[in-house]
Amino acid sequence: MTSAALPGAEDPPRARDRAIPRTFDGTEEAELRAGCEGLVALSGRLEPWQVELCHQPELIDAMFGEHGSPVNLIDPSPMRRNADALARAASGFDIDCGIFFARKANKALALVDEARRLGLGVDLASERELAQVLERGVPGSALVMTAAVKPVTLLERCVASGATIVVDNLDELRRTEQVARSTGRVATVALRLAVELGEDRLQTRFGFGLDEAIAVGDRVSAPGDGSPVAIAGVHFHLDGYDRDDRVSAIGEAFELVDALRGRGHEPAFVDIGGGIPISHLDSETQWERFWSEHRRGLLGAREPLTFEGHGLGLLAHRGEIIGSPAVYPFHQSPTGGAWLAGVLAGRLASGGRVADGFRARGLQLRCEPGRALLDGCGMTAARVAYRKRRRDGTWLVGVEMNRTQCRSTSEDFLVDPLLLRARQRDGGGVPGDGPPADPLPDQRDGLEADGEDTGPIDGYLVGAYCIERELLTWRKMRFPLGVRVGDIVVFPNTGGYLMHILESASHQIPLARNLIVRPGAPVVLDPIDGG
Ligand SMILES: *Cc1c(COP(=O)(O)O)cnc(C)c1O
Repeated sequence: MTSAALPGAEDPPRARDRAIPRTFDGTEEAELRAGCEGLVALSGRLEPWQVELCHQPELIDAMFGEHGSPVNLIDPSPMRRNADALARAASGFDIDCGIFFARKANKALALVDEARRLGLGVDLASERELAQVLERGVPGSALVMTAAVKPVTLLERCVASGATIVVDNLDELRRTEQVARSTGRVATVALRLAVELGEDRLQTRFGFGLDEAIAVGDRVSAPGDGSPVAIAGVHFHLDGYDRDDRVSAIGEAFELVDALRGRGHEPAFVDIGGGIPISHLDSETQWERFWSEHRRGLLGAREPLTFEGHGLGLLAHRGEIIGSPAVYPFHQSPTGGAWLAGVLAGRLASGGRVADGFRARGLQLRCEPGRALLDGCGMTAARVAYRKRRRDGTWLVGVEMNRTQCRSTSEDFLVDPLLLRARQRDGGGVPGDGPPADPLPDQRDGLEADGEDTGPIDGYLVGAYCIERELLTWRKMRFPLGVRVGDIVVFPNTGGYLMHILESASHQIPLARNLIVRPGAPVVLDPIDGG
């Protein structure tokens, strides 16, 4: 199933027969970035496996031939490094740490398998997520259910499997008690705490206020008294990535733990949820420059960086910029383990450090990272279908994907895509099953004589939904080497949320296939797609 050399034109590669070579010398990233960048560049961090794969555009093209465009390319291997960094941060403070992979961040089951192999738990957001994970052999004791709405059948499966149920409200608690009673089992629960943060913070829809949670402790009988639920821990999950928010939230969680223990309950962990930050960009300078130039663009002091001056959360109002960026902080510091260490070193309002509070109470620290575990695990590749000019001359590059296939709740994915060239210019070598690149008879204006090259252009990536504002990214891109039909657009580091959280099969366009591309192993379809 493996072959090392790239095939010639007579020997078109088949994606399933190709193995990605293991060796990588760490150079030539710049070459990959040469084809596309924003008017102000935002260069995404690339993993060695991504550089390696992008240097084999014929292989990606063959995947399109077999699976259609776009394809989600997933290498689960970086999860180990990401989990280790968190575990090391906790053990540095001599704290026991349970890591639960938040599966809603990516549906690929190879990632669940990887989490299981690494001894991680899984955080679940629905009954189907639970059923699939149990089927992969993850034990119920390693599962935590944080679904925002929990139907009875979901609660039944949780109770039957022994998964911890994070209880959000009194109705949910009553239902859980009923389910446990009717099956003669004890439900393991954690109370979700609605932490009180500053006035400028989002009012959360989730969890109990501290007083309400303490009242739950009064209402539920302590273990041994025939209670259908056992309160095993305290949980919160906060919006945003602020370290100090976590420190004050943990302080409140400690208060709840103490109050519960005072009532005979035995909570053994505080689960701080997810929101552990990552950085998509290496360069802070690029990130700052982008925002300052974007502001200038919105104020009319330069060409806008975005489609029709899209503000990305900002607005020009009477010569000033108002609003705040409505995007993920694609560059930030600290991240991962360093961020967690900062939380554990934080000072509690009640005195002492967060880490001391865990140790003094003999509590396990739990967390539910989605994005932070998936950093470096994925990228999304799609094929260029056309280049055209709008009536006003604006260049549009039509791509065989839609905007739900690389999008999160963030207003935009502020990372430059890569543009790779799969098709040979000479010799007629056209790998894959697609037709040869055609000239565009009515679009020759501005194209070179062979009809293939646009020459250097600036323009926008547009997708497959039949709406005017179907932009794959709001930012205007620069294509210094031109764009050809059949070129490959690659969005780097899309493993966390970007592939799946909003993906839709509208227009009856099939969802993207998910391919597992472990270095040194054959390319395989993820089990979620029947592989
Ligand atoms: C979404 C979610 C997570 C994962 O958040 P990340 O930002 O991906 O780490 C963890 N826990 C809960 C309850 C969530 O809703």
